Amino acid sequence: MTIASAHDAPPAPRFRLMRHFALVSLAGVLAVVASLHWSWGELTASQLTSHEGRANADLTRIIVNTVLEHHGDLLDGTQQRSVAQLRNDPRLAHLSADIRRLVSGLPVLKVKLYDRFGWTLYSTDARQIGENRRENPGFQAALAGEVFNLQLHREHFESHEGVVSDRDLIASYIPIRRDGTDNSVSAVAEVYSDVTDLLQRQSRAQWQVLAVVLAVLTGLYAFLLWVVSRADRVIRDQASEQERHEAAMRHQAFHDMLTGLPNRAAFTAWLSRLVERTLHEGSGFALLFIDIDRFKAVNDRLGHEAGDQLLREAAARLRGVLRSEDLLFRIGGDEFTAILPVGIGHDELDGLAHRITAAMAKPFDLGSEAAMIGATVGIARCPQDGDAADVLLRRADAAMYQAKLAGRGQHAFFRTDAPLVQPD
Ligand code: GH3
Ligand code: MG
Repeated sequence: MTIASAHDAPPAPRFRLMRHFALVSLAGVLAVVASLHWSWGELTASQLTSHEGRANADLTRIIVNTVLEHHGDLLDGTQQRSVAQLRNDPRLAHLSADIRRLVSGLPVLKVKLYDRFGWTLYSTDARQIGENRRENPGFQAALAGEVFNLQLHREHFESHEGVVSDRDLIASYIPIRRDGTDNSVSAVAEVYSDVTDLLQRQSRAQWQVLAVVLAVLTGLYAFLLWVVSRADRVIRDQASEQERHEAAMRHQAFHDMLTGLPNRAAFTAWLSRLVERTLHEGSGFALLFIDIDRFKAVNDRLGHEAGDQLLREAAARLRGVLRSEDLLFRIGGDEFTAILPVGIGHDELDGLAHRITAAMAKPFDLGSEAAMIGATVGIARCPQDGDAADVLLRRADAAMYQAKLAGRGQHAFFRTDAPLVQPD
């Protein structure tokens, strides 16, 4: 874990705009097409039944009026006649010829005539003559004075021109009131018309409209998808730019610009964390306070730029001496700290501090001139020299001053008995 990430909240899950838009709009398109298909089908079916039913009823009335003009007596005294008498009525041949002539060229497939008791007086299918259809709901409705229309499909149907297959039909039951009598229904006519072609045309038109609607919606969907994908890309770019910016800000907050090392804020966080760990787990660590000797003189003699260059080179040398698990910080000016988090013995520490002062004692090549400076190191250990971050830092600093006092270019361990004298 890094210092910066220790302060971060977990990133919020990103809203997947494209996926949401694509799924929701696709569902919308499908819902529109499905509801259009369903409502169109329902609407056309009911409109067709009512429109064709009316046309069928008008046609039936014309047929009945024409037929009754010549064959009205057929309705007289029907109740007294037997089924055989009904079937063998000699007037039927003439009636049948008249009806067939009337319906020839029309989409009429069957004509039936009932008396008011439900007896079939005539049918273009002669086998049905004499049957009683009193219980039929269409007959009942017509007997009550209403025109009754019904749309139906038949795999096989006995028409006046023979058996036809796979037909859509409209059946109309029409009440017949004879002139000169009261208003009561005296007979019922039933006519079947073929609406197969009409329905097929209707269905074709429906699919064409659906195809056009689907094509328009698909085009619109593709266009919106393109717009949203572009918007999504812009938003994503902006979000990554923002993330980069925030990462840079976080990096800046915890790093020193000159050397690239973690800075004082990072050092304070790490030190507190490691002190806490030591208190909980008992695993100790060492803190090194490193200050460059007579650094001001470099600045004064060679300029600030050369001083910066030396600080960068010093950081690189320190990093080169420390182990990979050790942490190095620049906490300000010419001051560096190192935390050695893994348990390390006194002799080992002594050797490491010696290697640091030796590395810093080598000349620094600063372009125009080589500078011989060196560094002084103070060492404090946790928990034996202190079990609080600020105490440890003060004690490492104090040890460093002791070493400066002793002549610079060397290191010293913190000692409680050491006098606190400011070096020159
Ligand atoms: P001593 O041996 O006692 O440590 O003396 P010194 O000359 O090193 O003095 P000291 O450590 O007290 O002062 C450090 C100087 O570092 C003070 C300041 O002018 C200089 N300094 C601080 N920050 C920077 C920086 O970023 N760049 C450069 N070039 N100089 C800096
Ligand atoms: Mg110094």
